[in-house]
Amino acid sequence: MQLSRRIRPRRAAALATVAVLTLAVSTAAGSGHKAARTTSGAAPIAPARTTALGPCMIDGSRSVQLSEGVPTGPGYSRSTGTVRALTLMVDFSDAPGEGKALDRFREFFPKTRQWFRTASYGRLDYRPETPVPHWLRMPKSFKEYGIERGAPFEEGYRRLVQDIVSAADPEVDFRDYDFLNVLVTPNAGPSALDTVLSVTFAGNAEAPIADGVPVANASFVYSRQDDGSGSYARTGYRVLPHENGHVFGLPDLYTQEGGSAVGHWDIMSEDWGANNDLLGWHKWKLGWLDASQVGCAARPGTTEYTLTPLERAGGPKLVFVPLGARTLYAVEVRVRAGNDEAVCRPGVLIYKVDAAVDTGMGPVRVFDSRRNSGGCTRSPNVQAELSDAPFTPGEVFKDPKRGVRVSVARGGEAGSYRVRVTRG
Ligand SMILES: [Zn+2]
Repeated sequence: MQLSRRIRPRRAAALATVAVLTLAVSTAAGSGHKAARTTSGAAPIAPARTTALGPCMIDGSRSVQLSEGVPTGPGYSRSTGTVRALTLMVDFSDAPGEGKALDRFREFFPKTRQWFRTASYGRLDYRPETPVPHWLRMPKSFKEYGIERGAPFEEGYRRLVQDIVSAADPEVDFRDYDFLNVLVTPNAGPSALDTVLSVTFAGNAEAPIADGVPVANASFVYSRQDDGSGSYARTGYRVLPHENGHVFGLPDLYTQEGGSAVGHWDIMSEDWGANNDLLGWHKWKLGWLDASQVGCAARPGTTEYTLTPLERAGGPKLVFVPLGARTLYAVEVRVRAGNDEAVCRPGVLIYKVDAAVDTGMGPVRVFDSRRNSGGCTRSPNVQAELSDAPFTPGEVFKDPKRGVRVSVARGGEAGSYRVRVTRG
């Protein structure tokens, strides 16, 4: 009961986030992406493309705002190498910052930086920078900006971003940064348990201009994601890596129903509860895996692959089974290691990725090897049913309609699995 009470506001927020992203991105699309870019913000990284992987490079349709397709469209932040996140702490006359602004910063750092370092196998060097170490006071009261759940970019957020730019400009050269984090004083607005306001405007070329470049990618974090379970200090920061996921072009995986499509297998699905990682598909999309670590089972017949746990650096990680130009099955090994703290049933996770489905509408669906089992986790705020979704040695995933069969066996090396893909 407590669990659903905590997740419900988040569900509502899911819809809100979808709405604002849609607005921001469609506005940008309408202008034909006038490509004013930050000097440091090169195009998002494209996963290494090889001929063998060609059939597995699914792309998004133009009607999808924020898709699972590869490569990620223009306008988002780079996701490899050194990325500089301008991080500003803001407060208001009706919500004056309590304590030091840098204490608010420390709720999220260095944890967020470390989370990305681990998730990316060291490929993303995320540098949060605070050229303004104090609270940046906004000229209007929080109430006057009209920021509420689902608030669109126009007009409130546009005004807020403009005011942030004006207030910070004497001390900040916006061209030096890849994206913006706004850490709002936690006493502004409702508790995150009632209403989740945290939001990201990504790929928004119509954003206000600062030092000649648009503030195209900006994550706003409000309140504290503190469920009272005592885990806030350890895991409450994870709203920021989730929001930054959008800055790098990742869609929301939770839907109106909550986390039932992907469960706790990706931070874009659940950013509350125990620490978790990203799906292998997302790591591939973000450029954190090499082509040599990925297989594409496009041809008829049987092919065998060895996979090592996604949470550990190096070795083969993923097999894709393409189903069409926009959809595929992805197969990976998940264990309790790295950022994945709550894995209660290690094994082979199989899911469908659909690049034609938009953010928040269920672009990814995990197949549950044990339907209606209730799951194996006892971790609070972790979607339980899918926690035992992975297939274990001796088990077989079958899709007779598409003539796909994936059988799972233990691999030679400790922790590795052998996966046999058969296509009819
Ligand atoms: Zn989101």
